[in-house]
Amino acid sequence: MLFRSAGDVRFPLIVAGTPVGVLGVASDPPLTEHQRSVLSAAAALLAVSLKNAELFHEVHENSVRDSLTGCFNRKHALEVMDGELRRSRRSQMPLSLVMFDLDHFKEINDKYGHLGGDAVLAAVGQRMNAVLRGSDLKCRYGGEEFLILLPDTPLAGARRVADTLRRELADHPVRWNEEAIMVTASFGITSITPGEVEPHIIIGRADSALYRAKQSGRNCVCTSEEHAADVIV
Ligand code: GH3
Ligand code: MG
Ligand code: MG
Repeated sequence: MLFRSAGDVRFPLIVAGTPVGVLGVASDPPLTEHQRSVLSAAAALLAVSLKNAELFHEVHENSVRDSLTGCFNRKHALEVMDGELRRSRRSQMPLSLVMFDLDHFKEINDKYGHLGGDAVLAAVGQRMNAVLRGSDLKCRYGGEEFLILLPDTPLAGARRVADTLRRELADHPVRWNEEAIMVTASFGITSITPGEVEPHIIIGRADSALYRAKQSGRNCVCTSEEHAADVIV
């Protein structure tokens, strides 16, 4: 809004001494004293409403996200996955899932302490943000186990995403307290089959593929057996 006339007024929006915004009113002729006092009262109410909306957003974010990694928590991921499965069934678009688990993470904790381990988990969250699209669902599924839901992505795309993230982790040790902590992860990928709507079955497939990646020596990507033949890299 442009303020050109001498009658234009700004009302600061303040809650408990903290500014949360400004209400600008352009007026020609200038506002009367009575209009000013009405607008000033409205600004006070608006400030409280804005603060409430901000607090509600914060509470909601805290209830769906893991604070260490910034990823969604497992409960929220399962809810979103339900919706994505139905959307994919309606739109006939592909949907893939990547599950990964950090390798020998217990040794990292043993060597660098839990704070070092936590720094690694936080860095993994940041790397995921750097590598993945905003529309991909990033979830911390358990301690050092993560799940990524890739809407509109076929299996070959999921393999590329998983391998990019795998290399990103393996090639860039986490800097922590003047140490460089080497981190690798093992990945399992799968895609939905037409009409599939049961999240646990799909997650189970990704988990089996992840198990095979661990058995194959870790720091690698394995495709679920049901889909292995579909991958065209
Ligand atoms: P593998 O390669 O087979 O996955 O071995 P691993 O050592 O990664 O697996 P294991 O399940 O033996 O150990 C996982 C460790 O992750 C044990 C647990 O204490 C640690 N962990 C889980 N959550 C957290 C966390 O929030 N912070 C830290 N620092 N450690 C965690
Ligand atoms: Mg592990
Ligand atoms: Mg694990």
